[in-house]
Amino acid sequence: MTDRASQWVERRLPTEESRQLVALVRDIAQREIAPGAAEEEEAGRFPREVFTLLSDSGLLGLPYDSAYGGGDQPYEVYLQVLEELAAARLTVGLGVSVHSLACHAVAGYGTKEQRAEHLPAMLGGGLLGAYCLSEPAAGSDAASLRTKAVRDGDDWVITGTKAWITHGGIADFYTVLARTGAEGARGITAFLVPGDAAGLSAAAPEKKMGMKGSPTAQLNFDGVRVSDARRIGDEGQGFAIALSALDSGRLGIAACAIGVAQAALSEAVGYAAGRQQFGRPIADFQGLRFMLADMATQIEAGRALYLEAARLRDEGKPFSRQAAMAKLFCTDTAMRVTVDAVQVLGGYGYTLDFPVERLMREAKVLQIVEGTNQIQRMVIARHLAGPETR
Ligand SMILES: Cc1cc2nc3c(=O)[nH]c(=O)nc-3n(C[C@H](O)[C@H](O)[C@H](O)COP(=O)(O)OP(=O)(O)OC[C@H]3O[C@@H](n4cnc5c(N)ncnc54)[C@H](O)[C@@H]3O)c2cc1C
Repeated sequence: MTDRASQWVERRLPTEESRQLVALVRDIAQREIAPGAAEEEEAGRFPREVFTLLSDSGLLGLPYDSAYGGGDQPYEVYLQVLEELAAARLTVGLGVSVHSLACHAVAGYGTKEQRAEHLPAMLGGGLLGAYCLSEPAAGSDAASLRTKAVRDGDDWVITGTKAWITHGGIADFYTVLARTGAEGARGITAFLVPGDAAGLSAAAPEKKMGMKGSPTAQLNFDGVRVSDARRIGDEGQGFAIALSALDSGRLGIAACAIGVAQAALSEAVGYAAGRQQFGRPIADFQGLRFMLADMATQIEAGRALYLEAARLRDEGKPFSRQAAMAKLFCTDTAMRVTVDAVQVLGGYGYTLDFPVERLMREAKVLQIVEGTNQIQRMVIARHLAGPETR
């Protein structure tokens, strides 16, 4: 984002320390992360060095307990950091959000021993995580997953295929949901699987519309053996753990979406000020001015919505409905705003010479991941009207 654009973002942060943290991240994001975005997309290269930098700077474990190497930051601060990272490069913002999602099970449901053993390396020791829920035949209906974990003495043997895994094939650890019992949500258990486990392999990354630097791959578990000490939570508790991780993860996606939208608005305003037609800057024309005003208004509404959900979470109150609303609204906003940003740039917006076409392609995936926006509407409606009757 240009300096001018970041001036419009009025951030309300709880402490001076958190204000400085977000300002520092904005500076790192704009100086070190944004400049490589187009080249990364073109080359389809994962920027592992950026994640090493973030880990070394204490930015990979922000919302977690400092006793285990985390940053002790409330979600309202962590999400504004994510927004800044995503505005610079979505593969980084989304990557940090997915990493946080992958840490959620151990941090929230692991035993004291499991937390002490694994979290320091996960939160600030340079490791990168992935979250494995989806399967080729179990997407929105995740509770129908078929990857199996079978008990064998002190071990579990995991067999099956996970699909669409962000950081698949490059992650150092995988939080894996597998079936250990009967069909349905209650037969699922969570495991922490090391990236170099024998029998674990990744297919070639999917060829995607955008986010080309972020590998998304199928993972094959061919009799992967992990000890019972790597089972997280109780047997049968896995789906509840997965859903609880997704409530928080959806807020991460919402914040990333607002980052993408803000970056697009910034480009659009900058371009409109400089481009002359009919002897005047196109920013003079009311048709465009109203479009920019609508884009900015939707962004601010989205930011307010995700922050309200985050503040509820920080106060220990239920926030699942608000998280679904924030994910839905912010990602739809990112889609609309990025499409409009392309329109503001006219023909130039349709070229690779400007970032708005990339931002538009990036926005699309945010309406799909961590529960499509149809699924978010189902979640919200269940809070309003109770479960469907059939
Ligand atoms: C780039 C990328 C990264 C991803 N990263 C991860 C990851 O790290 N870990 C992971 O586990 N998963 C990941 N996913 C998977 C993602 O969460 C799924 O793609 C998503 O949940 C949808 O599942 P599906 O693709 O199988 O679509 P489907 O479930 O087959 O849905 C197809 C369409 O039907 C609609 N639909 C389905 N059920 C209903 C219903 N009941 N009512 C109304 N509409 C419905 C959906 O909204 C969608 O429009 C990723 C996906 C992508 C594209």
